[in-house]
Amino acid sequence: MAYAYKGKEAISAELAALEVAKQNRAIRQAEARVQEKLKELQAMEARINARIEALKDKDPARPRRKEAKCGTTAGYKRHTVDGTPRCQPCKDAVAAATKIRRRRKKSTIRPQCETYAGYMRHKRAAEQACDACKKAYTQYMRDYRERKAAA
Ligand SMILES: [Zn+2]
Ligand SMILES: [Zn+2]
Repeated sequence: MAYAYKGKEAISAELAALEVAKQNRAIRQAEARVQEKLKELQAMEARINARIEALKDKDPARPRRKEAKCGTTAGYKRHTVDGTPRCQPCKDAVAAATKIRRRRKKSTIRPQCETYAGYMRHKRAAEQACDACKKAYTQYMRDYRERKAAA
């Protein structure tokens, strides 16, 4: 009887040890998952920090432009961006600009097109700039602002 009792005790001790081993394995697996997740989060944090640094670098070169005044097409755009209701002076400015744009001649494509000079030729001819020139002009102004900011 004593033997049987001892055997029972040994078995339950073994079972307990097995249970502990099982729990340890589960803990190790959970730990590995946590470590993996942590690595993922650290990588994400690094990406976010890099993005913040990139934005910081950009800040001095591109100061926030002055608030667009009401009664201009820029003011109208500001209302759109800020989500504020468009006021009448802004609406009038856009209506006037649209009228002028409609009245303007269609663009003539010239050999100078797709350059800043081409854009100025459209302007001098009092016509709409072609898309290539508009793009060139935007790029020119961007470069100009960056040069000015860097100086
Ligand atoms: Zn306004
Ligand atoms: Zn053009």
